[in-house]
Amino acid sequence: MKIKEIYETMSYGPAPESADEVIQFLDSHNKKFKLFINGKWTKPSSNEYFETINPCTKEVLAKIPEANEADVNKAVTAAKKALPEWVNIGAHKRARYLYALARQIQKHSRLFAVLESLDNGKPIRETRDVDVPIVARHFYHHAGWAQLKDSELKDYKEVGVIGQIIPWNFPLMMLAWKIAPAIAMGNTVVLKPAEFTPLTALLFAEICQQIGLPNGVINIITGHGKTGATLVDHKEVNKIAFTGSTEVGKIIRRATAGTSKKLSLELGGKSPFIVFEDADLDSVVEGVVDAIWFNQGQVCCAGSRLLVQESIADKLYKKVKARMETLRMGNALDKSIDMGAVVAPIQLKTITDLVKQGIDEGSTLWQPSWSCPKDGYYYPPTLFTDVTPSSTIAQEEIFGPVLVAMSFRSHKEAVKLANNTRYGLACSIWTENINLALDIAPQIKAGTAWINCTNVFDAAAGFGGYRESGFGREGGIEGLYEYLKPKADELLSGEPIKVAKKSASKAMSNGQSVGIDRTSKMYIGGKQTRPDGGYSTVVKSSNGDYVGEVSKGNRKDIRNAVEAAHSNTSWEGKTGHAKAQVLYYIAENLAIRRDEFANRIVQMTNQSKSSALEEVDISIDRIYYYAAMADKYDGKVHHTIHSNVTLAMPEAIGVMGIVCPNESPLLGFISTVIPVITMGNNVVVIPSESMPFSATDFYQILETSDVPAGTVNIVTGSKEELAEVLAKHDDVDGIWYFGTKEGSKNVELLSADNMKRTWVNYGKYRNWLDKTQGEGTMFLRQASQIKNIWIPYGE
Ligand code: NDP
Repeated sequence: MKIKEIYETMSYGPAPESADEVIQFLDSHNKKFKLFINGKWTKPSSNEYFETINPCTKEVLAKIPEANEADVNKAVTAAKKALPEWVNIGAHKRARYLYALARQIQKHSRLFAVLESLDNGKPIRETRDVDVPIVARHFYHHAGWAQLKDSELKDYKEVGVIGQIIPWNFPLMMLAWKIAPAIAMGNTVVLKPAEFTPLTALLFAEICQQIGLPNGVINIITGHGKTGATLVDHKEVNKIAFTGSTEVGKIIRRATAGTSKKLSLELGGKSPFIVFEDADLDSVVEGVVDAIWFNQGQVCCAGSRLLVQESIADKLYKKVKARMETLRMGNALDKSIDMGAVVAPIQLKTITDLVKQGIDEGSTLWQPSWSCPKDGYYYPPTLFTDVTPSSTIAQEEIFGPVLVAMSFRSHKEAVKLANNTRYGLACSIWTENINLALDIAPQIKAGTAWINCTNVFDAAAGFGGYRESGFGREGGIEGLYEYLKPKADELLSGEPIKVAKKSASKAMSNGQSVGIDRTSKMYIGGKQTRPDGGYSTVVKSSNGDYVGEVSKGNRKDIRNAVEAAHSNTSWEGKTGHAKAQVLYYIAENLAIRRDEFANRIVQMTNQSKSSALEEVDISIDRIYYYAAMADKYDGKVHHTIHSNVTLAMPEAIGVMGIVCPNESPLLGFISTVIPVITMGNNVVVIPSESMPFSATDFYQILETSDVPAGTVNIVTGSKEELAEVLAKHDDVDGIWYFGTKEGSKNVELLSADNMKRTWVNYGKYRNWLDKTQGEGTMFLRQASQIKNIWIPYGE
């Protein structure tokens, strides 16, 4: 090549990173690994192995053991055995181990980065500058949380043995996001990396040995999906933390239903990247590169839908295309490339098939003029325009370097398009107008909102989904609760609390004083409504006396109630102060009718008047508690490491179903409904089946307390039948169930279809009269989901 030509093309030469140390590491295991169980390298029982390859060259890197049921058993047993000692060494010692892990990762950072790039195909620039620093940061940050556990989280304890299953797109980073908070909170772990990318997890096992981590605290088992499923099913595992596809997430939700295993799911996404006409377009273009071509687009929160204001759409597409033309693709170990290879042939095929479908459905494809290297699994950066919002490529997660662009005219349309997806992992908002950005951010249904930035992560901020992107958070204090359980849970009992009974004759006279022949209607959309089926049920007291009749609600009544709850858009947007005003008003109106409500409790339960009055008084007290919390339960401003402030905003889940406990007819209703509406949700409530009148009397209080129509809807009838309808309903976003073990299982099982947030009692009873069991921030946490909003701040 002539000097003149070199000046004209200014092409970069290759800048390969050395793989020598990685080769030494692989050789030290004879390129054939074992499982890491109880601090030792252990041969797989099956003696079966599979190969892991370098996607840039197709070269085999090593043989990886396939763990079977016996191996999973061994690993879980080791984790269980290690648990008491790990708990007992205390917060400070655990903090020191986490700190040692962080230091050791930093010391070997280049080895981790090179190994990750070789196994996954992602550019060394990313593993070296993004993945590994985030991994070390996670262990440092959580060393801090380990230290603070006993002071900041003293009402909580460890969950136990945690099964963790991670994907191939950020193998080491996902390991850190899972292991660091788990062990910091005193749990022990069995982790299964993805079949395509197990090597950095195995190197991490060596690091655990080097720092002298007690045996069994971390166990790494490799294998395919079947190994993961065996871990999920293991009886001694107390929690599953999973990152991967929504499809497998749903399988795991169903597999764990009713087992009382804690569960967090970080699933797929189709995140919007929204560009308003006043955005700085040159920054936007670099943002787009990070959003969809970082890690070849194999990112759960990739900004894969470019939504751009019509007035600037053509200009932006032109700039994006010009930038795509300059992207460099090549071997992952070349320091001067932007994009490496896709992880495996099957992933390449998925991308290719979906792109073909996009063309077949009429969208316009654009790819740069250069061609991809031929020696690995490469796919070029791709832009689709002329895309309709309902087309497959606009709805399905492609998990590859494919950007799908659509335009909008108004701000309202931008929000509508952004939310037109079953997912809700992240969104990115680009405008120079901070007012506009902060107006749009709360309207997008997503767990993370990045303003004028994208794909930024930090251990101090929570990350996780809304809707079918899963539930639970990783990072931030919100992520710690996934690895903790309230100490108050240990007070729950196998039997409902017993209340003092009075004689039958006295109970009758009390019953007569509230009028026994009234038939209660249901309460939907702010109106008392008759049941669709036209049936009523007789309700008897615990002594067998006739108390009254109650409407028998059916599927259609639930449907109407859900519709009414959705059509109320005023409640969620109210300020904490405004909600508090309404809640205080409810308490005030209940206090005025204290005696009447107590009589009704006596009539249904035959308990003494004084204990019924106590139930009413505690109910009033509890409403005051949530009214007080309405403007005080807030998130945090997280100290993330970039030039941002990160606001952790607890937001409403949406429309929530509440299946009330049968016992404590008034207090059970209050203790569940009030925290849920405090967080801005609208609710469909199924009150106590055997004692529904405290709830149906309550709508007169709702009517006189400025509660907007549709915020609280009450459907009476068969608890289990109606719970099933609620759990199956696709427009219900969350459900709380207090009832039997079987009912709990059913609710969790049926909720998997649209990934409802569930909170069930597995047949364990709370004493609702006891504050530690019946009220508190744990209720508010279960009634909300955190959105982390990253706002540029400082330099
Ligand atoms: P999967 O969800 O299939 O796998 C994720 C992890 O779960 C892997 O370790 C996998 O093991 C394991 N697994 C698979 N089946 C089961 C099961 N039934 N029970 C328990 N564990 C199981 O994702 P893939 O890696 O196969 O990728 C497929 C698609 O998932 C991608 O195209 C992408 O859309 C999405 N995805 C989303 C990610 C995210 O971060 N949200 C990350 C990765 C993928 P094994 O690897 O051996 O199959």
